[in-house]
Amino acid sequence: MQPLPSTQPWDDEDGFHEECGVFGVWNATDAAALTALGLHALQHRGQEASGIVTLAEKGAFHAHRGLGLVGDIFGDAKVMASLKGRCAVGHNRYATTGETALRNVQPLFADFEFGGLAVAHNGNLTNAAVLKRALVRRGCLFQSTTDSEVFVHLIAISLYANVVDRLIDALKQVQGAYSLIALHDGALIGARDPMGVRPLVLGRLGAGEGGAYVLASETCALDIVGAEFIRDIEPGELVIINNDGLRSIKPFGRTQSRFCIFEYIYFARPDSVVEGTPVYATRKRIGSELARESHVEADVVVPVPDSGVPAAMGYASEAGIPFELGIIRNHYVGRTFIEPTDQIRHLGVKLKHSANRPMIEGKRVVLVDDSIVRGTTSKKIVEMVRQAGAKEVHMRISSPPTTHSCFYGIDTPEREKLLAANHDVEEMARIIGADSLAFISLDGMYRALGRPGRDAANPGYCDACFTGDYAIPLTDFEGQPERVPTLLVANSK
Ligand code: AMP
Repeated sequence: MQPLPSTQPWDDEDGFHEECGVFGVWNATDAAALTALGLHALQHRGQEASGIVTLAEKGAFHAHRGLGLVGDIFGDAKVMASLKGRCAVGHNRYATTGETALRNVQPLFADFEFGGLAVAHNGNLTNAAVLKRALVRRGCLFQSTTDSEVFVHLIAISLYANVVDRLIDALKQVQGAYSLIALHDGALIGARDPMGVRPLVLGRLGAGEGGAYVLASETCALDIVGAEFIRDIEPGELVIINNDGLRSIKPFGRTQSRFCIFEYIYFARPDSVVEGTPVYATRKRIGSELARESHVEADVVVPVPDSGVPAAMGYASEAGIPFELGIIRNHYVGRTFIEPTDQIRHLGVKLKHSANRPMIEGKRVVLVDDSIVRGTTSKKIVEMVRQAGAKEVHMRISSPPTTHSCFYGIDTPEREKLLAANHDVEEMARIIGADSLAFISLDGMYRALGRPGRDAANPGYCDACFTGDYAIPLTDFEGQPERVPTLLVANSK
């Protein structure tokens, strides 16, 4: 096994692991309320903190940020009344390591010579630490420990005259994954990295001149505000939305799409349509492929809720085995991964799931979940299902083995902690205590996405967590503290 970089960049242990949701609206009544609703629909993308920045008349910005859930932060009428204006940008944060501090809560905001600018970023930059070091040498004073702040400083030092050119200048210097929304006096701007790793969609609220544009991480956020889906923002595309309409720029030329396949498997909400493909139907198809690939004689198919539900439905219907909710999830406990220590993570699993005994007792059970990361969940669930009287427990996973860490915005632990990085499938089955264990194959996953299989020359998706094929350089993570770019504004005029 080839040693891999740590997921911690070398100069900052803090805050570089973020999965997030972004939402923005241009020219709508109740822009802040729409944004709060959009963020609520995107709550699954981040539960640690949220923020909204609005733009009122004459370049006056208003902001509110808080730690916790969207409903708690923006449920206060006074807070909402203070967020004046017809344009807004919002952000949900999901940072899993490091400090939980208000200074890291986005949208970030800064005053430039051209006026104020708010930035909300989903994704993870892979050269932020290197850039930060160079920026600090130039005298930039960082206010937060989030990688996203490098955008702000790169924009500040750019020598281009207008904000869009400065943003492009900044984007050309960063590596990594980003879907971002920026708001300034003159426009709402949406941008995706050249490979389009993280999602970003465009929608429209109302028709004609009074209509408003909406940008969001996922279509579920358009649905909640009643916006019509127009299209995905393309990889490497910038859209500039203002009172004259929408303008698109492709500053990176032709690029190869590498959309994150894990969005389909786990991260996106099942009712979202991502890159033209409904997430729910895809998950069901993955379940059907899985049943074809690794059928086992059984009495009942039980999903690990909620993440395993659509795949288990696909599995059950393909295998002709009854589907039952043999595990019940308590919805008032956050995702297991949010808990910071191993001890609490173990506790979290027990708090979250309980066995529905009559559906399990005396039966041969196929358990379906979307992924095995550390193996903590599977181990606990298998044990729980056995304690509830299952005769056999067969674990089926609707993704290939997670053998590599993600550096592009999905929280995964260090490679050493990934069960599949250290054990083969048989050993994993023994560790989690299952009678059998099977994962969908890489080709099976691509078939479920409508392709003949994985085309190694052009996979079309980022599947680095399953293959180690990192399409974007991992500059910060390669342990070269002395590598500092000498001239940051080399691209600028
Ligand atoms: P583990 O217990 O470490 O094996 O984690 C596997 C469980 O965590 C599965 O039930 C997944 O649904 C869930 N999961 C997988 N990836 C993530 C992630 N990036 N963030 C939060 N939960 C995850």
